[in-house]
Formats: sequence, C-alpha cells, structure tokens
Amino acid sequence: MIIQRVVLNSRPGKNGVPVAENFRLEQSTIADTVQAGQVRVKTLYLSVDPYMRCRMNEDTGSDYLQPWQLSEVADGGGIGVVEESKHQSLSKGDFVTSFTWPWQTEAILDGDSLQKLVPQLVNGRLSYFLGAAGITGLTALLGIREKGHVSAGANQTMVVSGAAGACGSLAGQIGRLEGCSRVVGIAGTDEKCSILVQEMGFDAAINYKKGEVAKQLRELCPGGVDVYFDNVGGDISDTVISQMNQNSHIILCGQISQYNKDVPYPPPLPTDIEKIRKERNITRERFLVLNYMDKQEASVLQLCQWIQEGKLKVRETVVEGLANIGAAFQSMMNGGNIGKQIVSVSK
Ligand code: NAP
Repeated sequence: MIIQRVVLNSRPGKNGVPVAENFRLEQSTIADTVQAGQVRVKTLYLSVDPYMRCRMNEDTGSDYLQPWQLSEVADGGGIGVVEESKHQSLSKGDFVTSFTWPWQTEAILDGDSLQKLVPQLVNGRLSYFLGAAGITGLTALLGIREKGHVSAGANQTMVVSGAAGACGSLAGQIGRLEGCSRVVGIAGTDEKCSILVQEMGFDAAINYKKGEVAKQLRELCPGGVDVYFDNVGGDISDTVISQMNQNSHIILCGQISQYNKDVPYPPPLPTDIEKIRKERNITRERFLVLNYMDKQEASVLQLCQWIQEGKLKVRETVVEGLANIGAAFQSMMNGGNIGKQIVSVSK
C-alpha cells in the first residue's frame, strides 16, 4: 500500500535554528497484510513539540530521547483510527494514540503499543488527547502538584513563562484551580497576552518583547513571586528568579530559549542568579513528566473533568496536512502558535 511520510532531511546542527526544510515529504509503502497482534491505522492528528528540537541532533543530550535518523521517518505523539485489526482488544473504528506515532498517513503498528481513546471524555475533541488531556496537560498538572508546593489559601503568586503555549496556558489556569491567588503570564505578543487575561483568567500578562519585564513584574507581583512555572529559561527566567520570595519554588518544565544552543540540560543559572536562588532557598529541581506515569490515569480524568466543566479553556493551533509539519514545527519554535500545536493529517 502506498503512503506519504515525513523523514528527517537534514540536521540544523546543535547551535542552528531549525527550518521546515530539515524535513522532507516522500512516498513510501507499507505491507498489504496485517500480522497477528498488529493493526493498520490511519493517522488523524500529530503533535509538534519543542523537545523534538533535541531529537534533530545526532546526540539528543538526554538518555530518554532517541535522535531521529537522517532519511528515516520521524515520530512523536499521534492519534489515529483503526482501519484493520488482528489485535484481540482493538477493532476497526477505534481511536488510538501512542507517544511514538510515525509521521505518515497510514501505518501498521503493534496493537500493544497503542492506547484506546474515549472521545466522549473530551467532548469529541480528539486532538485534545495530544494536548490538554494528554502529555501537555499532564505536564502542567503534575509539574504544579509535584514541584509547585501550591496550597489553597496560602495567597501565593504564580508566574508562568511561555504562558500562551501549550503547557503554559494550562499551567496558569491549573495554578489558579489548585489555589494560587494571583497568576501572571509572560508571552511574546500582545494578542497572546490579551487571550491569557480575557479568555484564560490570568490576572495579568507581560509581552516580553515590549517594555521592561523586570519593572512590569515588580508592579504586577507586589508581594513577590512564590511559584514560577518555567518553560523558557534564559534572560526571562533570570528576571523572574530575581523577584522570587524566600522558600519559593521553580517548576523547571522546559528551557526553550536554550534549545538551539549546545548547553547541558538543565542549563546552569548565571552566577549572580544562582547566588540569589541559594540565599533565598528557592527550589529548582528537574521535572520530567514521564517519571510520573503512575499518576497518568487519574490525572487525565481530572483534566477531562475540568475541560467538560469549562474550568480549563483550551486553545490549539491546527495546521492542515502532513506536508506542512516541518513548517508547523518551525513556526511553533518561533512563537507562531497559541496553545497546542497540532497537525491534522486526514479527516
Ligand atoms: P509551546 O510553549 O506551545 O511552544 C513554544 C513557545 O515558546 C512559542 O510559541 C514561543 O512563544 C515560546 N518561545 C520560543 N522561543 C522562545 C524564547 N527564546 N524565549 C521565550 N519564549 C520562547 O511548547 P510546549 O509544548 O508548551 O512546551 C513548553 C516547554 O515545556 C518546552 O520547553 C518543553 O520542552 C517543555 N516540556 C517539558 C516537559 C517535561 O516533562 N518537563 C513536558 C512537555 C514539555 P512566545 O511568543 O511566547 O515567544
């Protein structure tokens, strides 16, 4: 059977900026017959995520991430529908997902590697299982619960960087649901800041590309910062950390501003900021959502409940067509997305 797939065409280099041309669409084939235990699936949605930047390097710098190989099909979070099954618990028409879905229009996959999805849990919005009700939502929720030390009634102020992105937009809302009294976001456009405040219930948002972040933060967080959900690292994070309170907490979710640089993860803080962190006893522990998968089921149900109740507002940036996945990745790394970046492959 003839299919379309996307392979890694070239590597940007550890210090290079990724472009759409690092990926290549090509025609390929899959077997005509499905073996025992396998299913044939049609791809519906693919997830595009910042961690993929590390997979474009020959050495990802992480033991849990495998590099993509040149001229081989890329993979990541995906959702599809079963078209033919020789697996005992999957049937034609079932919706399924996996963290290692190949970037191709159809595939033959091992049925045991797939999780069955219940569309009703997300009001039929299947792609949410890649975002708000998937790894992204889990990252926001478990990051806050495991590393945030948020406690209802404690009058805590939370700051979120990368706040209009997939994790950040959920993290601010969940921070509030978990008990923070004030939530301030930092994002890269006025439109994003306006969505955070008008739609997602943030108290305020700062456009870091305009004006002085430090001054605005001081005005918007008069009692200092108690919890910092850090998606970006670099200068923005140094500015936030300088305004954090004694015994406060950084949720070290990601450091996207450093992903095109050959630095270790997590990148060490500059000496003066590290001094502040130590003096004020600010925690900055590594957080990896994959280490908390024992909490996945209960946490996904919590996220779905909030979505159904309208307590968690979800935004997605959906790009149509497998051919455009490289462009979607490039755009997301440059701030082109609001909420979760998704590629819709076929209806
Ligand atoms: P995302 O925030 O939806 O997408 C990236 C956004 O980052 C862009 O839209 C852009 O928005 C911002 N950005 C890009 N370059 C930047 C820079 N130099 N400085 C400041 N902001 C920049 O991505 P996501 O999926 O939610 O991921 C957010 C972070 O969480 C990433 O660092 C990711 O690696 C991490 N993550 C960690 C875990 C974990 O287990 N720890 C799991 C999932 C994701 P602006 O317009 O605001 O610049």
